[in-house]
Amino acid sequence: MTPTGAGRFAPSPSADLHIGNLRTAVLAWLFARSTGRRFLMRVDDLDDRTHSDIAARQLDDLAAIGLTWDGPAEWQTHHPQRYDHAVDALAERGLLYECYCSRKDVQQAPRAPHAPQGAYPGTCRDLTDAEREERREAAGRPPALRLRTDVTTHTVHDLLHGEYTGVVDDFVVRRGDGVAAYNLAVVVDDAAQFVDQVVRGDDLLASSPRQAYLANLLGHPEPTYAHVALVLNEDGARLAKRDGAVTLAQIGMPRVLEQIAASLRFGATTLAGMLEEFDPAGLPRDPWIYSPAT
Ligand code: GLU
Repeated sequence: MTPTGAGRFAPSPSADLHIGNLRTAVLAWLFARSTGRRFLMRVDDLDDRTHSDIAARQLDDLAAIGLTWDGPAEWQTHHPQRYDHAVDALAERGLLYECYCSRKDVQQAPRAPHAPQGAYPGTCRDLTDAEREERREAAGRPPALRLRTDVTTHTVHDLLHGEYTGVVDDFVVRRGDGVAAYNLAVVVDDAAQFVDQVVRGDDLLASSPRQAYLANLLGHPEPTYAHVALVLNEDGARLAKRDGAVTLAQIGMPRVLEQIAASLRFGATTLAGMLEEFDPAGLPRDPWIYSPAT
Protein backbone atom coordinates (compact mmCIF):
# COMPACT_ATOMS: atom_id res chain seq x y z
CA MET A 1 0.00 0.00 0.00
CA THR A 2 1.33 3.44 -0.84
CA PRO A 3 1.45 5.68 2.21
CA THR A 4 -0.67 8.81 1.96
CA GLY A 5 1.15 11.71 0.37
CA ALA A 6 3.10 14.22 2.33
CA GLY A 7 4.12 17.83 2.40
CA ARG A 8 7.34 19.01 3.94
CA PHE A 9 9.52 21.85 5.07
CA ALA A 10 13.21 21.58 4.25
CA PRO A 11 15.37 24.31 5.78
CA SER A 12 19.04 24.65 4.93
CA PRO A 13 20.96 25.22 8.14
CA SER A 14 22.87 28.24 6.89
CA ALA A 15 21.44 30.70 9.42
CA ASP A 16 18.73 30.93 12.08
CA LEU A 17 15.24 30.98 10.58
CA HIS A 18 13.78 34.45 10.25
CA ILE A 19 10.11 35.35 10.24
CA GLY A 20 9.94 34.85 6.46
CA ASN A 21 11.25 31.29 6.75
CA LEU A 22 8.89 30.60 9.65
CA ARG A 23 5.99 31.94 7.60
CA THR A 24 6.87 29.62 4.70
CA ALA A 25 7.02 26.72 7.18
CA VAL A 26 3.57 27.64 8.52
CA LEU A 27 2.23 27.72 4.95
CA ALA A 28 3.79 24.34 4.14
CA TRP A 29 2.15 22.92 7.27
CA LEU A 30 -1.22 24.51 6.39
CA PHE A 31 -1.13 23.17 2.83
CA ALA A 32 -0.25 19.67 4.05
CA ARG A 33 -2.61 19.44 7.01
CA SER A 34 -5.55 21.03 5.18
CA THR A 35 -5.29 18.34 2.51
CA GLY A 36 -4.96 15.41 4.92
CA ARG A 37 -1.30 14.90 4.12
CA ARG A 38 1.47 13.97 6.47
CA PHE A 39 3.92 16.76 7.17
CA LEU A 40 7.63 15.96 7.18
CA MET A 41 10.68 17.89 8.26
CA ARG A 42 13.97 17.60 6.41
CA VAL A 43 17.28 19.24 7.20
CA ASP A 44 18.94 20.10 3.88
CA ASP A 45 22.46 19.98 5.24
CA LEU A 46 24.45 18.82 2.20
CA ASP A 47 25.85 22.33 1.70
CA ASP A 48 26.03 23.20 5.40
CA ARG A 49 27.34 20.00 6.91
CA THR A 50 29.08 21.59 9.84
CA HIS A 51 26.06 23.52 11.03
CA SER A 52 24.20 20.96 13.11
CA ASP A 53 23.90 23.55 15.90
CA ILE A 54 22.02 25.90 13.57
CA ALA A 55 19.85 23.01 12.34
CA ALA A 56 18.98 22.08 15.91
CA ARG A 57 17.94 25.68 16.64
CA GLN A 58 15.85 25.77 13.47
CA LEU A 59 13.96 22.64 14.54
CA ASP A 60 13.52 24.04 18.06
CA ASP A 61 12.10 27.28 16.64
CA LEU A 62 9.71 25.42 14.34
CA ALA A 63 8.47 23.37 17.30
CA ALA A 64 8.28 26.47 19.49
CA ILE A 65 5.81 28.19 17.17
CA GLY A 66 3.65 25.08 17.44
CA LEU A 67 4.41 23.18 14.25
CA THR A 68 4.28 19.41 14.48
CA TRP A 69 5.67 16.94 11.99
CA ASP A 70 5.32 13.22 11.47
CA GLY A 71 8.29 11.18 12.58
CA PRO A 72 11.73 12.54 13.32
CA ALA A 73 13.35 15.12 11.07
CA GLU A 74 15.45 13.57 8.33
CA TRP A 75 18.97 14.82 7.62
CA GLN A 76 20.32 14.68 4.08
CA THR A 77 23.86 13.86 5.18
CA HIS A 78 22.59 10.69 6.89
CA HIS A 79 21.96 8.80 3.66
CA PRO A 80 24.47 9.65 0.92
CA GLN A 81 23.88 6.21 -0.65
CA ARG A 82 20.36 7.30 -1.59
CA TYR A 83 21.81 9.95 -3.90
CA ASP A 84 24.61 7.70 -5.16
CA HIS A 85 22.02 5.16 -6.17
CA ALA A 86 20.12 7.72 -8.27
CA VAL A 87 23.34 9.03 -9.83
CA ASP A 88 24.41 5.47 -10.71
CA ALA A 89 21.02 4.76 -12.26
CA LEU A 90 21.29 7.86 -14.46
CA ALA A 91 24.90 7.06 -15.38
CA GLU A 92 23.95 3.53 -16.42
CA ARG A 93 21.43 5.00 -18.83
CA GLY A 94 24.13 7.21 -20.37
CA LEU A 95 22.42 10.33 -19.08
CA LEU A 96 25.39 11.90 -17.30
CA TYR A 97 28.63 13.47 -18.43
CA GLU A 98 31.67 14.83 -16.69
CA CYS A 99 32.06 18.58 -16.51
CA TYR A 100 35.31 20.34 -15.75
CA CYS A 101 34.02 23.89 -15.97
CA SER A 102 34.49 26.27 -13.08
CA ARG A 103 31.73 28.71 -12.24
CA LYS A 104 33.73 31.37 -14.06
CA ASP A 105 34.09 29.14 -17.16
CA VAL A 106 30.32 28.78 -17.26
CA GLN A 107 29.74 32.51 -16.88
CA GLN A 108 32.27 33.43 -19.53
CA ALA A 109 31.47 30.75 -22.11
CA PRO A 110 30.16 31.96 -25.44
CA ARG A 111 26.46 31.39 -25.73
CA ALA A 112 24.39 30.43 -28.68
CA PRO A 113 22.01 33.23 -29.68
CA HIS A 114 18.72 32.86 -27.82
CA ALA A 115 20.26 30.47 -25.28
CA PRO A 116 18.24 30.93 -22.12
CA GLN A 117 19.81 33.03 -19.41
CA GLY A 118 21.44 30.93 -16.69
CA ALA A 119 21.56 27.76 -18.80
CA TYR A 120 24.75 25.70 -18.95
CA PRO A 121 26.30 26.41 -22.36
CA GLY A 122 27.18 22.76 -23.01
CA THR A 123 30.96 23.20 -23.01
CA CYS A 124 31.70 19.65 -21.77
CA ARG A 125 28.69 17.91 -23.29
CA ASP A 126 30.20 16.50 -26.46
CA LEU A 127 33.92 16.22 -25.78
CA THR A 128 35.97 13.57 -27.51
CA ASP A 129 37.95 11.26 -25.22
CA ALA A 130 41.10 13.24 -26.01
CA GLU A 131 39.44 16.59 -25.27
CA ARG A 132 38.04 15.24 -22.04
CA GLU A 133 41.45 14.04 -20.96
CA GLU A 134 42.92 17.44 -21.76
CA ARG A 135 40.27 19.26 -19.73
CA ARG A 136 40.65 16.81 -16.86
CA GLU A 137 44.36 17.55 -16.66
CA ALA A 138 43.93 21.28 -17.03
CA ALA A 139 41.25 21.40 -14.31
CA GLY A 140 43.31 19.40 -11.83
CA ARG A 141 40.23 18.47 -9.81
CA PRO A 142 37.54 15.82 -10.05
CA PRO A 143 34.69 16.61 -12.43
CA ALA A 144 31.12 17.41 -11.59
CA LEU A 145 28.46 15.25 -13.25
CA ARG A 146 25.84 16.90 -15.40
CA LEU A 147 22.56 15.56 -16.73
CA ARG A 148 22.37 15.20 -20.49
CA THR A 149 18.94 16.69 -21.10
CA ASP A 150 16.99 16.52 -24.32
CA VAL A 151 14.68 19.45 -23.63
CA THR A 152 15.29 23.13 -22.96
CA THR A 153 12.18 23.85 -20.91
CA HIS A 154 9.61 22.03 -18.84
CA THR A 155 6.23 23.13 -17.53
CA VAL A 156 5.10 22.51 -13.98
CA HIS A 157 1.77 23.14 -12.38
CA ASP A 158 1.90 25.46 -9.40
CA LEU A 159 -1.10 26.06 -7.16
CA LEU A 160 -0.28 29.77 -6.93
CA HIS A 161 1.48 30.47 -10.24
CA GLY A 162 -0.54 28.22 -12.55
CA GLU A 163 1.34 26.70 -15.47
CA TYR A 164 4.97 27.74 -15.11
CA THR A 165 7.47 27.04 -17.87
CA GLY A 166 11.14 27.36 -17.01
CA VAL A 167 14.59 26.45 -18.21
CA VAL A 168 15.88 22.90 -18.06
CA ASP A 169 19.58 22.82 -18.90
CA ASP A 170 22.30 20.25 -18.36
CA PHE A 171 22.36 20.90 -14.63
CA VAL A 172 24.80 19.40 -12.14
CA VAL A 173 23.61 16.31 -10.29
CA ARG A 174 26.85 15.56 -8.45
CA ARG A 175 29.40 18.17 -7.54
CA GLY A 176 33.12 17.75 -8.10
CA ASP A 177 33.59 16.98 -4.41
CA GLY A 178 31.30 13.97 -4.77
CA VAL A 179 28.36 15.51 -2.90
CA ALA A 180 24.90 15.28 -4.45
CA ALA A 181 23.77 18.58 -5.94
CA TYR A 182 20.72 20.31 -4.48
CA ASN A 183 18.48 19.65 -7.50
CA LEU A 184 19.14 15.91 -7.37
CA ALA A 185 18.95 15.58 -3.58
CA VAL A 186 15.59 17.34 -3.36
CA VAL A 187 14.02 15.12 -6.01
CA VAL A 188 15.44 11.91 -4.58
CA ASP A 189 14.44 12.76 -1.01
CA ASP A 190 10.95 13.88 -1.88
CA ALA A 191 10.37 10.67 -3.80
CA ALA A 192 11.84 8.48 -1.04
CA GLN A 193 9.54 10.12 1.50
CA PHE A 194 6.44 10.04 -0.75
CA VAL A 195 6.32 13.82 -0.72
CA ASP A 196 3.74 14.83 -3.31
CA GLN A 197 3.30 18.47 -2.31
CA VAL A 198 6.18 20.95 -2.32
CA VAL A 199 5.50 24.30 -0.68
CA ARG A 200 8.45 26.67 -0.50
CA GLY A 201 9.60 30.21 -1.24
CA ASP A 202 9.11 31.50 -4.77
CA ASP A 203 12.88 32.03 -5.09
CA LEU A 204 12.86 28.32 -5.96
CA LEU A 205 10.11 28.50 -8.58
CA ALA A 206 12.71 28.68 -11.36
CA SER A 207 14.32 25.44 -10.11
CA SER A 208 11.09 23.47 -10.19
CA PRO A 209 11.10 22.65 -13.95
CA ARG A 210 14.57 21.10 -13.62
CA GLN A 211 13.49 19.12 -10.59
CA ALA A 212 10.22 17.96 -12.13
CA TYR A 213 12.03 16.92 -15.31
CA LEU A 214 14.49 14.89 -13.24
CA ALA A 215 11.67 13.32 -11.23
CA ASN A 216 10.15 12.14 -14.52
CA LEU A 217 13.47 10.70 -15.66
CA LEU A 218 13.80 8.78 -12.40
CA GLY A 219 10.26 7.45 -12.74
CA HIS A 220 8.84 9.48 -9.85
CA PRO A 221 5.57 11.41 -9.99
CA GLU A 222 5.89 15.19 -10.13
CA PRO A 223 4.78 16.78 -6.88
CA THR A 224 2.19 19.52 -6.73
CA TYR A 225 3.99 22.80 -6.20
CA ALA A 226 3.03 25.95 -4.34
CA HIS A 227 5.70 28.62 -4.41
CA VAL A 228 4.76 31.25 -1.88
CA ALA A 229 5.74 34.90 -1.98
CA LEU A 230 8.83 35.78 -0.01
CA VAL A 231 9.10 38.27 2.77
CA LEU A 232 10.99 41.44 1.90
CA ASN A 233 12.52 44.17 3.98
CA GLU A 234 11.52 47.79 3.69
CA ASP A 235 14.02 48.31 0.85
CA GLY A 236 12.36 45.57 -1.16
CA ALA A 237 15.27 43.15 -0.71
CA ARG A 238 14.92 39.62 0.58
CA LEU A 239 14.61 39.67 4.37
CA ALA A 240 17.86 38.77 6.13
CA LYS A 241 19.17 38.52 9.62
CA ARG A 242 20.90 41.88 9.35
CA ASP A 243 17.50 43.55 8.99
CA GLY A 244 17.19 43.52 12.76
CA ALA A 245 14.53 41.86 14.84
CA VAL A 246 13.60 39.00 12.51
CA THR A 247 14.16 35.72 14.38
CA LEU A 248 11.92 34.01 16.91
CA ALA A 249 14.50 34.71 19.61
CA GLN A 250 14.25 38.41 18.80
CA ILE A 251 10.51 38.71 18.22
CA GLY A 252 9.20 36.17 20.73
CA MET A 253 6.00 34.17 20.98
CA PRO A 254 3.12 34.64 20.47
CA ARG A 255 4.03 37.82 18.60
CA VAL A 256 5.78 36.05 15.76
CA LEU A 257 2.73 33.89 15.08
CA GLU A 258 0.42 36.92 15.33
CA GLN A 259 2.52 38.74 12.75
CA ILE A 260 2.53 35.75 10.43
CA ALA A 261 -1.24 35.36 10.82
CA ALA A 262 -1.83 39.04 10.09
CA SER A 263 0.41 38.92 7.01
CA LEU A 264 -1.70 36.05 5.68
CA ARG A 265 -4.89 37.93 6.57
CA PHE A 266 -6.10 35.35 9.05
CA GLY A 267 -8.42 36.43 11.84
CA ALA A 268 -7.10 33.59 13.99
CA THR A 269 -3.69 33.84 15.58
CA THR A 270 -3.20 30.19 16.51
CA LEU A 271 -2.11 27.48 14.09
CA ALA A 272 -5.30 25.50 14.75
CA GLY A 273 -7.39 28.58 14.00
CA MET A 274 -5.41 29.34 10.85
CA LEU A 275 -5.94 25.77 9.67
CA GLU A 276 -9.69 26.21 10.00
CA GLU A 277 -9.62 29.42 7.98
CA PHE A 278 -7.06 28.32 5.41
CA ASP A 279 -8.03 28.86 1.78
CA PRO A 280 -5.15 28.74 -0.73
CA ALA A 281 -7.17 30.82 -3.21
CA GLY A 282 -7.27 33.70 -0.75
CA LEU A 283 -3.53 33.82 -0.09
CA PRO A 284 -1.84 37.14 -0.78
CA ARG A 285 0.14 36.91 -4.00
CA ASP A 286 2.45 39.81 -3.29
CA PRO A 287 5.52 39.72 -1.09
CA TRP A 288 5.00 40.74 2.50
CA ILE A 289 7.06 43.78 3.44
CA TYR A 290 8.24 43.28 6.98
CA SER A 291 9.25 46.14 9.21
CA PRO A 292 10.92 44.93 12.36
CA ALA A 293 9.67 46.71 15.45
CA THR A 294 12.15 49.25 16.61
N1 GLU B 1 16.64 23.68 1.47
C1 GLU B 1 16.13 24.60 0.52
C2 GLU B 1 16.21 26.01 1.08
O1 GLU B 1 16.21 26.19 2.29
C3 GLU B 1 14.70 24.32 0.16
C4 GLU B 1 14.55 23.07 -0.56
C5 GLU B 1 13.14 22.86 -1.03
O2 GLU B 1 12.20 23.28 -0.36
O3 GLU B 1 12.98 22.22 -2.06
O4 GLU B 1 16.27 26.94 0.32
